[in-house]
Amino acid sequence: MSRVSLQTLIDRSTKNMGLVHPVVKETILEVIKRAYKEGINVQISSGYRSNAEQQRLYNQGRTTPGKIVTNARPGQSMHNYGLAVDYFLTNKDGTKALWTVNADWRRVAAIAKSLGFEWGGDWRGFVDYPHLQMTGGLTLSQLQAGRRPNLVSRVGKLSNKPTADKKPTAPAKKPAQSKPASTGGSIVDYLKSIGVDSSKENRKKLAKEYGVSGYDFSAEKNLELLNKMKAGKKAVKPAAKPKPQAKGTVHLPASAKTWRTYKLNVKPVKANSDWSLTPSRYGGLTYDVLDRPYPNVVTIMTGRGKRNIYVGPETGAVIK
Ligand SMILES: [Zn+2]
Repeated sequence: MSRVSLQTLIDRSTKNMGLVHPVVKETILEVIKRAYKEGINVQISSGYRSNAEQQRLYNQGRTTPGKIVTNARPGQSMHNYGLAVDYFLTNKDGTKALWTVNADWRRVAAIAKSLGFEWGGDWRGFVDYPHLQMTGGLTLSQLQAGRRPNLVSRVGKLSNKPTADKKPTAPAKKPAQSKPASTGGSIVDYLKSIGVDSSKENRKKLAKEYGVSGYDFSAEKNLELLNKMKAGKKAVKPAAKPKPQAKGTVHLPASAKTWRTYKLNVKPVKANSDWSLTPSRYGGLTYDVLDRPYPNVVTIMTGRGKRNIYVGPETGAVIK
């Protein structure tokens, strides 16, 4: 039998991995090429998984038939952020999947690691031999809070640029147009650049998560969603941002022992609180009001960055 072509392995893998982060995609394709040169056939079985797919997988063996294949709920797998792929080997002509963790399997892991992947085979506890991921140093909870890694490819020059930028070499260099950050790029390009499903269905879901009310796919609402998503992640490079305009002040009285804070992308309800201020310890605290996102909720700058706090009349907060 003749050997399966490299192109076939690449085509099948590309299809199976879906919308993963562009750096993850470029790097894993390079792994496949390098392994192929050494006589090893590698194929990717899965990559990006939507939260709905993750839920279906999580249900398997619990509420639906089959055996348990994952402990990760939606949002708890690096696959949900397009940052992980799973691989397997094939026989010579590519007609059969091989799952034995042998020297070839480990060689593929070594190639992947040399290009920046973390290998699930190195994990203690739950060992996941097919699994490769790039987290850019971020934890799951940081990803859940909306942060996204700034991955740098060791293969080419591709970094965290939107895929729409991939033009076949521009002939003349024009000075970069500086757009205000709030209008740069579309939500679809942004989602693609971070390896997240940009379908209408998923955007609708994200709009809900980020509190964009009345999301109707209009340009205006798309922009609102884009800005909220970007605000949810820590700025990689604070490029000369205009200073937030103060909209009055809020005073938290010394009689209050603690005062809950909320990240901007969550609903300010008790269960979502991430931290608290201690007005009593300072004889009361006064902050500039940066925004008033909801009735009785203001945004302030705290030691942990911008946070929302609840300042309803019954709380004793004084807003001026
Ligand atoms: Zn995996």
